[in-house]
Amino acid sequence: MIAQSFKYESPGTIADAIALLEKYGDEAKILSGGHSLIPMMKLRFASPEYLIDINGIPGLSYIKEENNVVKIGALTREAEIEHSDLLKKYYPIFGDVTKLIADPQVRNMGTIGGNLAHGDAANDHPAVMLALNAKIIATGPNGIKEIPVDEFFFGFYTTALQHGDILTEIQIPIPPGNTGSAYHKLERKVGDYATAGVAVQLTMDASGVCKSVGIGLTNVNPTPLRAARSEQALLGKQVNEESISQAAILASEDCNPSADLRGSVEYKRDMVAVLVKRMIRKAMERVKK
Ligand code: FAD
Repeated sequence: MIAQSFKYESPGTIADAIALLEKYGDEAKILSGGHSLIPMMKLRFASPEYLIDINGIPGLSYIKEENNVVKIGALTREAEIEHSDLLKKYYPIFGDVTKLIADPQVRNMGTIGGNLAHGDAANDHPAVMLALNAKIIATGPNGIKEIPVDEFFFGFYTTALQHGDILTEIQIPIPPGNTGSAYHKLERKVGDYATAGVAVQLTMDASGVCKSVGIGLTNVNPTPLRAARSEQALLGKQVNEESISQAAILASEDCNPSADLRGSVEYKRDMVAVLVKRMIRKAMERVKK
């Protein structure tokens, strides 16, 4: 189908973009990579009258380290994330997740800001951000807001962004050295959205005790889900087959998947348990390296 006609604006600054969003109200939408928004417009699930293209605003694409935090600009493309040496150094999970997002064409255009702002529980970055305890930075009419990732995803395609807000940056704490992370999703074919996906970041001491852990789940709940009870099953304990199995069982109990073409509720719960076990083990292997 062809999208409904719309007017196109290309502001040169964040302030101009915010002013346009305020001027056009609910009729306006931000355009980043366009790889979620344009398909939705073509299907007529979204029919904004104005597209505010932020690609012409300089300074929104970067990956840098500052004050024990890695900062990623909202317009950073998946392909840049995939090949970033800085991200590889601290978070091997980004190498896992970007390779699983769609195909190189989508990854050349899709942005991390758009992936999060879209608020789709099927997207892969939200679970990773939960595992990494990221902070979302939004710039709006009232200035800059820092939103902890646990307060960002509200409901079906709904986030904490208010009208007029632009997601401008993602901030991720740099973990201590003895940390590993991993992501995997089960997909029906290459490039598909997840049947179920699991992100884990784990910090362990020399005796194998878990000092901190983040576990995020993809596409098995109306919103991206933190597996909080699974995290508690590991925190302060020896990471061994018993605690890993317990974390897997709790995640499969706590998720809330829907039955669809990708599988039944029971199948998806089982896959969550399998992936939680595998991703904890993979994160552990990476701690040892
Ligand atoms: P856009 O499409 O431009 O925007 C998406 C939404 O977010 C819009 O509502 C827009 O207004 C809003 N928005 C965008 N940027 C901002 C901002 N900075 N501040 C506030 N609001 C903003 N994703 C996955 O995670 N996993 C997959 O496996 C996957 N497979 C895909 C397969 C195909 C064939 C396609 C076309 C897409 C796929 N995607 C997948 C989605 C892809 O990653 C998108 O690029 C991403 O979800 C949205 O990023 P974008 O930059 O394209 O955002």
